[in-house]
Amino acid sequence: MLVMIVLVPLVILQVTEISAQRRHSMDMEFNACQDYAEALSSAFINYLNGLWDTENAIAASITQTPLESPDQIETYLKEAQSSQPTVERYSWLNPDGIVIASTAGSSRGVSLEDRSYINRIKGGAEAVVSPIIKGRLGDGIIMPVARGIRKNGKLIGIIVAAVDVKKIGMVLPEYRDNKNSLFGILDGEGNAVYVNGKPDMTLGKRHLIQDSPGWAAIRGEATRINNWTSQFDGVVRMGMILPVKEIGWACFISTPQNDVVERSIYEAIRSTAILLIILICSIAAAISFGRRILQPVIKLKNSSDAIFRGDLSVRTNIEGTDELADAGKAFDQMAEQIQKLEISRQLFIRTSVHELKNPMTSIKAMTSLMKRKVNSQKPAEELIAIMDELEKEVGRLNGLLNEIAEAFRAQSGDVKLKSKLKRIDIMEVIQSVIKFFSMSDTGRSFNLVTGVSGPIWVEGDPERLGDVIRNLIGNALKYSPHGTDVEIGLKTLDNWALISVKDQGSGIPEAELEKIFESFYRSSSLNSGDPGGMGLGLYICKDIVVRHGGSVWAENNKDRGSTFYVKLPLNNIMKGE
Ligand code: ADP
Repeated sequence: MLVMIVLVPLVILQVTEISAQRRHSMDMEFNACQDYAEALSSAFINYLNGLWDTENAIAASITQTPLESPDQIETYLKEAQSSQPTVERYSWLNPDGIVIASTAGSSRGVSLEDRSYINRIKGGAEAVVSPIIKGRLGDGIIMPVARGIRKNGKLIGIIVAAVDVKKIGMVLPEYRDNKNSLFGILDGEGNAVYVNGKPDMTLGKRHLIQDSPGWAAIRGEATRINNWTSQFDGVVRMGMILPVKEIGWACFISTPQNDVVERSIYEAIRSTAILLIILICSIAAAISFGRRILQPVIKLKNSSDAIFRGDLSVRTNIEGTDELADAGKAFDQMAEQIQKLEISRQLFIRTSVHELKNPMTSIKAMTSLMKRKVNSQKPAEELIAIMDELEKEVGRLNGLLNEIAEAFRAQSGDVKLKSKLKRIDIMEVIQSVIKFFSMSDTGRSFNLVTGVSGPIWVEGDPERLGDVIRNLIGNALKYSPHGTDVEIGLKTLDNWALISVKDQGSGIPEAELEKIFESFYRSSSLNSGDPGGMGLGLYICKDIVVRHGGSVWAENNKDRGSTFYVKLPLNNIMKGE
């Protein structure tokens, strides 16, 4: 389809181009003919001038006083003829037109007085060229070129050069490139004086037919020949006929019409072939270029289809630096993000169903137990003990729900820190958390190890930072065996306060040391001894610490267990040392 869209206008364009080309070839041909005809005309006039000059020179020798003898004159004439190869014979005539001497000796005494050119000279003309005639000596067709010789205004003789028309081609320029061209000279009476390649035409054949365009040129009009069947060879021709104004003659040049048409057809075929080659190359280039563009687009489409079908693992992996590669990379990032969200959604559902189920089962079991005890009228102490347990489970449930709510708030960036953080002693915060745990019945001892005595000031929200430390100590208790100690550390390092919570528990697989801070992530190493949890505590801790401009991370201890670190910026105004 695309190819057609390109091809059709190109074909139309090419057809128009071909006809323009044809017109152009014709114009070029006419111009070339015009140039040649002009050259032909001036060459012929030069030639005649040369003949007349020679005649003048001969006359100067002959007319030395007194007039030379006929024999002597003949020598002069022969001498002149040797330098003019086109001249058949030179003759010297008396003023009446009788041949006195001639290079063709036999013509002495022949009268030429009836010749019109002789009469023109007698009438006063100085130099004349005659239309072609049949020579009086029976030696073929000649073109007489004559000059009247006068002394004190009186005609004393006439010199005549009889030019052999067959030889006139010697003095005309050859037409350049077309061997089929026809060119020549027309005399004032409408005879072809010379036609190239046709030396032997009879006088009758040489005479122009009635409607020939040559007549107009003889009358003085430059004429274009187009689609004209030449009378000399019957070929349809185009060309130019120009008047040779000086003598009232004409010259012509023409080319076979077919040659011009063929040339323009050849040109058209050549330009069409070039166009086709360019077209084929362009289409091939366009297809390969199109493929290069289409491939990433197809990849993008297929990938988005796959995501729509639920395969979130698909990626375009488009390489490169152009816009499509950028779009591919953006798509992959988006897919990555969607996959992460989907994983955490599934984790959330799985974990919350699992975690919430336990207290619910306990609550259900305890309420039915309570019902039975009430029915069997058991003492109030037993009921209160069950209600205490019930309260604990509801509290646990509440804690889990709070954690979920908190995590969602963190995820949506909606965690409330006191808008203006205040300068607080982090030591005091830690101590109050330790106090809380010491009072609870954990059966564990908590060592606070610190190299500093005074307060350590940080900028912060004491409640939220208390939550962080409570969570870390809570985890330390949760993930380490009974009877092991938990060591809490606090020190300053450059402009930072560094809190550590070290336990002697199972430690964390190295590959998961960062992952445990993601929402709903729970370590894969937890199995039968899993104390349960939503996998949200560390996620919330990280969120709070980061909001304080600090960082939190975990390391495994050299011996056993792990240590969690919290780094907070010290208050700049007054370091707590
Ligand atoms: P939860 O404790 O509710 O699972 P947390 O976000 O607090 O969620 O912890 C995420 C995971 O990190 C835990 O499930 C556990 O696998 C691991 N973890 C946290 N603290 C410790 C610790 N002190 N020792 C070993 N593993 C820990």
